[in-house]
Amino acid sequence: MRVAVLSAEAVPYSKTGGLGDVAGALPKALKQVGVDSLLITPCYLQTKGEYLWHTAIDDLWVHWRGTPFRAKAFYSEANGSPTFLIDAPEYFHRDSIYGYREDHERFAFFNHAALVLLERVGRPPDIVHLNDWHCGFAAVELSAKRRWDAYWQNTRTVFSIHNMAYQGVFGADELWKFGFGAELERNAFMSNGAASAMKAGLETADMLSTVSQRYAQEIQLPENAYGLDWLVRQRADRLIGITNGVDYDVWNPATDPEIPAHFYADDLSGKMQCKRSLLEQFSLPANLERPIFANITRLTAQKGIELMKQVAGEILAAGAYIISLGSGESRYEDFWQRLRDHAPRQVGVYRGYSEPLAHKIEAGADIFMMPSKFEPCGLNQMYSLRYGTVPIVRAVGGLDDTVQNFDLVNGTGNGFKFGPYRADSFLEKIYEALFAYADQDTWRRIQLNGMSEDNSWENAARKYVQLYEWTRN
Ligand code: ADP
Repeated sequence: MRVAVLSAEAVPYSKTGGLGDVAGALPKALKQVGVDSLLITPCYLQTKGEYLWHTAIDDLWVHWRGTPFRAKAFYSEANGSPTFLIDAPEYFHRDSIYGYREDHERFAFFNHAALVLLERVGRPPDIVHLNDWHCGFAAVELSAKRRWDAYWQNTRTVFSIHNMAYQGVFGADELWKFGFGAELERNAFMSNGAASAMKAGLETADMLSTVSQRYAQEIQLPENAYGLDWLVRQRADRLIGITNGVDYDVWNPATDPEIPAHFYADDLSGKMQCKRSLLEQFSLPANLERPIFANITRLTAQKGIELMKQVAGEILAAGAYIISLGSGESRYEDFWQRLRDHAPRQVGVYRGYSEPLAHKIEAGADIFMMPSKFEPCGLNQMYSLRYGTVPIVRAVGGLDDTVQNFDLVNGTGNGFKFGPYRADSFLEKIYEALFAYADQDTWRRIQLNGMSEDNSWENAARKYVQLYEWTRN
């Protein structure tokens, strides 16, 4: 089976969040289970030159907005699978990957160019796997093309929702510019008087998936789907939840090149070294018996920073450390900075994005906080499990599917989990975790329960193969 995966970001070429991790790892995992997979993603200013192996197509002519537009395509296998990176500096060479007024146009172009590229390289794929609103355009284009273009007749589409909160909404009067003038196509985009690329993908793709089973249920409710719950319910028989995997080639404490000492489930001594070095890096005193609470995230309301704000004082009063790595909304960046100024011997803050530091924190911390408002899948709780860093999470989306609350009586569970989005519920779990931490054997049990879990991509890839098979039949 031949599968083309399209994504706006993919590790190691580009990443702003979980989508990048998933789109980089899935094609490699598919390849490992025998699928002929191909990744197509934009080449950004941020994409490192070392990943661009060679120019595959120097003259990728794309008919765009009424005129011929010359793009290029680089080739690479830096993520472990064949990859084409579409190079169009006008659209993709910018200071950041997203955040521009014409983002919808940038990704509409990417979609169209990716399909031109697939026509150019020959043999049509059986499945085009589209990810998030950035790829909703290709779902519509392919469903139209299938009606008149023999090349695409046997190609089917899968559309994956990684985060329903971002829908790619823009003025419907622009649709014709991107080639979606026909009524049928226009209707696919229309949502509450505007065009929505997410809606277009949801409506026209042959099959839908999302990144956890719990999120597949949640997005059928009005409070979680930002106006599209009715459509998700309408297509629920074509929607499945597949929990993301972890790339253990990248996130593995036994081999991780970013961390100062390696460790294993049966020998955690290296983790103590990682903790010492993490405290040193943040100029914090080396009280190794005190727990480190950590958080690594995009600083947006989704991630429950408001709750962390409300419990931080109690964590510090218990004598623990807090380390935060993140960037995003200034109100949250300011909060972490103020907390650090308030307790410089207990709080470490790095404002920004740093992949190496993310690894060091996962390795050196004791407890990882993810009190998200909503979380389609979440990756950091799964990285934490592998690094013996016990997660405290809110029971939503993928957090609910992957973390089980520790049961002191029979020793089961890999973390701590609370329900209501309230500081007192979160705090209750923080105290439960501190109580467990105080007893070395209990803590070791929780760590081992998490470290022995298999959240590898192989399981997830097999489920995707099954989904592709259903889509073809
Ligand atoms: P989301 O996709 O909503 O951002 P996920 O938990 O699915 O959340 O994935 C987030 C990914 O981005 C993780 O790999 C996490 O380590 C990484 N990440 C987020 N913020 C930072 C940061 N400031 N520095 C390094 N990595 C980060």
